Amino acid sequence: MNVKHRNKDKRLLRFLADSSDYYDYLKGINNLTDSQKQVLYERLKSELPITQSTPIQSLSLPTTANTTIRTALPDSDKPTYTIDCCLHCGSTAIKKIGKTKGGMQRYLCKDCHKSFTENYGLITHYSHLSEWQWQEAVRATVVGISLTELAKNINVSTKTAWLCRMKIYDTLKNIYGYCDTFNSIVEADGKYERISFKGCKDKSFFIDKLGRLPRHHRSRAQRIDYLGDDYKKLFVENPTMLKEMIYSSQKRMVGRDTIDINHQHVCILTAIDRSNNIYVQPVSAGSAKYDTVYENLQSRITREAVLVTDEYNSYKYLCRKESIEHIVVNSKCHSYGTYSLSRINALHSSIDRFLGSNEYKPATKYLDLYLIMFWWLEKNKDVSQIILCEQLFNILLGRVSYTVRSKMTNVSQSDLISRPLPIDGMCYY
Ligand SMILES: [Zn+2]
Repeated sequence: MNVKHRNKDKRLLRFLADSSDYYDYLKGINNLTDSQKQVLYERLKSELPITQSTPIQSLSLPTTANTTIRTALPDSDKPTYTIDCCLHCGSTAIKKIGKTKGGMQRYLCKDCHKSFTENYGLITHYSHLSEWQWQEAVRATVVGISLTELAKNINVSTKTAWLCRMKIYDTLKNIYGYCDTFNSIVEADGKYERISFKGCKDKSFFIDKLGRLPRHHRSRAQRIDYLGDDYKKLFVENPTMLKEMIYSSQKRMVGRDTIDINHQHVCILTAIDRSNNIYVQPVSAGSAKYDTVYENLQSRITREAVLVTDEYNSYKYLCRKESIEHIVVNSKCHSYGTYSLSRINALHSSIDRFLGSNEYKPATKYLDLYLIMFWWLEKNKDVSQIILCEQLFNILLGRVSYTVRSKMTNVSQSDLISRPLPIDGMCYY
C-alpha cells in the first residue's frame, strides 16, 4: 500500500475514535475501492476484535462486509438481561413456558396469568431492524445526525428512520415523563415556536381551519391547482382569503383574521435551576395563560423554591396561590440583585440548536417527543457521547430496573401518526 493509501487508512481510523466525526468516516468509506474496503475491514477486525457486546458492531460497513457482520450475529436481537418478575403486574411468581418461533423466551405469570416474551414492550419487539441498525439509530440521535443520513447509514427509507427516532423518543417519554422538581432558585420562561402541521395531508384542514395553504414553495398556478374545487367555492364565499392564498408571499402569510397571530405559535414552557433540573414542555397555542402555567408548574415547584421570571403576568398567580417567592427580572435590566434569567436564556438557545433550522423543525404534533430527547441530552450534557449511546441503547433493550422496565411500551406507527396535538389548542386547532 502506498503512502497516500496508508494516510487515508490512518485518517479513517482517527475518525473512528471520535464519534462526532462518525459520518465523515462513513463518507470516507465510499471513496475506497472494493479491495481497499476489504483491507480496512480486515484491519478493523484484527485491531478491534468484534464481540457481541462492543458497540463497534454497529459500524455500517460497506455492502459485502455488512452482511458478514449481520450473519455473524444470529442472536443479536435477543435481549441479554434477565427477567425476574412479571412485566404486567410485577409479581415474582413467573415461570418459563418455552420459546417463541424466533427463539425468544416466553414467561407466564402465576398471579395475573398473563404471558409475555422477554422483549415485551421494547421497541425492538416486532421490529424488523437488527441490533446494529438500532445502535446506529441511537448513535444518530445522540450525535445529531440527520434522518436522511441515518436512513442512508442503516439502509432503510427516511420514513423508517423517522419511525425509529420517534420510537426512541417515545420510550424516553414513557420512562421519564417530565419528572424534575424544583426546590431552589428556578428560572422559568415561555419559548415560542411556529406551529407546524408538517406532514399533514388533509387539505380541508388547511383551507377551512387554518385559512392558509401548507408552507410549500408553490407558484401561483400551482396554488390554484392545489385548491382545485375549493377555488370556486372560495371565489364565491371568501374572495379576500382566496386572494391572500394565491398572491401573498407564503412566508408572510399569517392566515385568516379569526386566528390571532399569537395562536400561530406554540408556547414551550421552560424552567431550569442551578442543579440542572429542567422542565421543557409544549403547553399551549399562543402565550401561556395563568391557568396553564399553574396547571403545569404547580406540582413541580415547591414552596422552598424561588421563582425567577420576566414581568409576564401568568407567573404571579402561581406564586401567590402556592406561596412561592417570586423575583421579577425586568427584561431591560437583565438581572435583579444576584438573580438573572441567563440560565433560561441559555436553555432556549440550546433548544434552538437542537431543533435546527426552520426547514428541519418537527411538526408540532411531535414537538413534545423531540423535547424529551432534548431534555435527556441536556441533563447528560457532561457525559461523553460514547457513554450516552451505550446508556440509551441499554434503556431501549430494557436493561433497566423493573420500575423503569414496566413503564416501557412499544408505540405503533399508527399510534404515532394519529397521536393528538400535545398542546392545548385553545379551540383553534
Ligand atoms: Zn403478572
